Amino acid sequence: MQLVFASSNAHKIKEIAAQLAHTNIALIGLQDIGFEGDIPETQPTIAGNAQQKVRYIADRYALNCFAEDTGLIVAALNGEPGVHTARYAGESRDPAANMNLVMQRLEGASTRRAYFKTVIALIWNEQEYLFEGVCNGMITNELRGTGGFGYDPIFIPDGYDKTFAELPSEVKNLISHRGIATQKLINFFGDKLK
Ligand code: IMP
Repeated sequence: MQLVFASSNAHKIKEIAAQLAHTNIALIGLQDIGFEGDIPETQPTIAGNAQQKVRYIADRYALNCFAEDTGLIVAALNGEPGVHTARYAGESRDPAANMNLVMQRLEGASTRRAYFKTVIALIWNEQEYLFEGVCNGMITNELRGTGGFGYDPIFIPDGYDKTFAELPSEVKNLISHRGIATQKLINFFGDKLK
């Protein structure tokens, strides 16, 4: 079965493609359907943005499609960066600036607890479905590791002593917000594709 992934983020595509490699789902990219440009994400919630992205592509191409949106929610920052995760330190979406701002604002905080949340929105046979994944952990006070992307160098998932940027990608995929949401998507199709 073919499914369009409405994302131009190469890191997200790589992570999700690795998980779908063991299934009957063939991932179709935006370039494969001839889409160029940015998909709007202007909603006030992570789920809302995932829905906005998937509807944008499904409406134009009438294809089975999914999109995802992810946020980092930091307890001591009243849930920030949240829906502003990509542009926390400004429009340049610079990961280093974003991470530095989080660490700077956490100086002296009583807790460094945080979680990532991913929502996948799927449109399949014109019906819409949502799959959510959460990964709890804590924010470091320095950058650690070179793998992954985004905020990975400052996030240690619960049960580990390494950041996502230090852990092998297979481990991140198994326990991460995106990995969990993707597994729910795979399970959804598990019965249908037998
Ligand atoms: P968006 O979902 O593309 O809007 O991304 C939101 C922000 O979260 C961007 O700054 C991403 O780099 C960051 N981000 C998304 N997924 C991850 C992840 O798995 N690890 C670390 N940062 C992430």
